[in-house]
Amino acid sequence: MERFFLELDPPAEVMRSWPHVVIVGGGFAGLKACHALARQPVRVTLIDKRNFNLFQPLLYQVASGLVSEADVASPLRQMVGQAPNIQILLGEVSDIDPDAREVVFNEQRYGYDQLILATGSGSTYFGREEWRPLAPPMKILEHADEIRRRLLMALEEAEQTPDPQRRRFLQTVVVVGAGPAGCELAGSLIELMHRAVRREFKQLRQDDCTVVLVDVVERVLPTMAEPLGAAAARYLEAAGVELRLGAKVEAIAPGRVRLAGAAGEQELAAATICWTAGVRASRLGRLLAERCGCPVDRGGRLVVEPDFSIPGHPEIRAVGDLCAYAHTPDERPLPGMAGPAVQMGGWVARDVLARLQGRAMAPFRWVDLGSMAVIGPWYAVADLRGWHVTGLPGWILWALAHLAFIPDTENRIALFSKWMWQIATRQRTALLITGRPDQHLGVDVGLYRAPWEEEGASAQVEASGAG
Ligand SMILES: Cc1cc2nc3c(=O)[nH]c(=O)nc-3n(C[C@H](O)[C@H](O)[C@H](O)COP(=O)(O)OP(=O)(O)OC[C@H]3O[C@@H](n4cnc5c(N)ncnc54)[C@H](O)[C@@H]3O)c2cc1C
Repeated sequence: MERFFLELDPPAEVMRSWPHVVIVGGGFAGLKACHALARQPVRVTLIDKRNFNLFQPLLYQVASGLVSEADVASPLRQMVGQAPNIQILLGEVSDIDPDAREVVFNEQRYGYDQLILATGSGSTYFGREEWRPLAPPMKILEHADEIRRRLLMALEEAEQTPDPQRRRFLQTVVVVGAGPAGCELAGSLIELMHRAVRREFKQLRQDDCTVVLVDVVERVLPTMAEPLGAAAARYLEAAGVELRLGAKVEAIAPGRVRLAGAAGEQELAAATICWTAGVRASRLGRLLAERCGCPVDRGGRLVVEPDFSIPGHPEIRAVGDLCAYAHTPDERPLPGMAGPAVQMGGWVARDVLARLQGRAMAPFRWVDLGSMAVIGPWYAVADLRGWHVTGLPGWILWALAHLAFIPDTENRIALFSKWMWQIATRQRTALLITGRPDQHLGVDVGLYRAPWEEEGASAQVEASGAG
């Protein structure tokens, strides 16, 4: 145990003199930085609070039972832990001491020469944290599991409920947030319910299945070109998703969402409520700002220099969702997406190496790979730098891009075969109800039990996605 927390004990004597690069966060940006530093003359320590890398863009497929957890996540030790110069430590960094050049995790202090912060982002309820247990977000695997559990439990109860009104309530889902994640989730959940109800539930009617997609903005996919948003909206409505756009969530109570908009106030009753509406940077951003006075934007992202360093601390870099990088031709910060995170992580790692070797790197240039959202089986919309693709061609592009991006070969093969199987058979192999609190023999695993399942259950606030 003591040895574990000492400075990295290098297996080869030569490594003792090498600079020590600490990377916090093994997501898109941190993993790419590790890959760039593997087998280079630096000692690398990767610290993450989870022991796996998560491919967040496919979380909606876990939530809707298309694929299972291990298809979208891979153990960090297997991905980069085999490189001789990379050590992986499991723990949550809780503090940073920039003057001493130390991070604090597992109540120990740990020194660095170069620090790369890549702790990503979590979800925000815009000051209404009490909504979190009632409408889980979709940032970590456990959130996706919980959404699937709630929906499947509601369908199981509906199958045994004679009251038609309660059945309709149990067969209703509200998804808050009509960005890519919300549209993907809504499209996949309505398809799941329609298929399951038609083929596997004997008591339920397809007409009673409802997914309501809510957003305060007037259109779906507001970050994509207008024609693509319109195409996605048409597809979702044809699939049976009800759109409530221009409607602000005023209140969430167990099984209830109150909206206010131009059409006045309305209340939705739904057994399953999901939240994809707000993102905030990992709390390490604000923490570092407190420690050394560096600037953060409204979303808590560290405002970084052109080389991703923090003003006054060239040895600390922030990449991915944690940083606001506005050194772009239009001076707008790069979007919080996987593509920029990967490019930032790779560039910063190469820049760290170059400086250590006395070389200068060409400035960071972001290559815009566009954005995509898959709305249903065989249907996606893609905005590729102004080139718009919808429908089946969009789906093929989406599938190829995601298979290329997923960092683990085994997952790539598993996903491809599961998608093909699902398309051929319309079966979802991962429709498992797991994580019911009463299945854990009294061991507290931090799972919240929805109040409509058990009246009077005490609400526990779930852990959010990022620190
Ligand atoms: C549901 C969903 C769908 C998405 N869909 C898309 C999409 O289709 N296309 C796209 O481009 N982008 C998409 N994104 C956004 C994309 O996933 C993020 O932009 C990307 O993950 C950011 O990468 P990152 O490396 O900055 O952070 P992350 O990938 O979030 O990694 C952060 C890592 O830091 C670790 N960590 C956090 N805090 C601490 C701490 N204090 N100590 C130690 N470790 C810590 C976490 O465990 C995690 O491993 C989606 C996001 C979500 C949530």
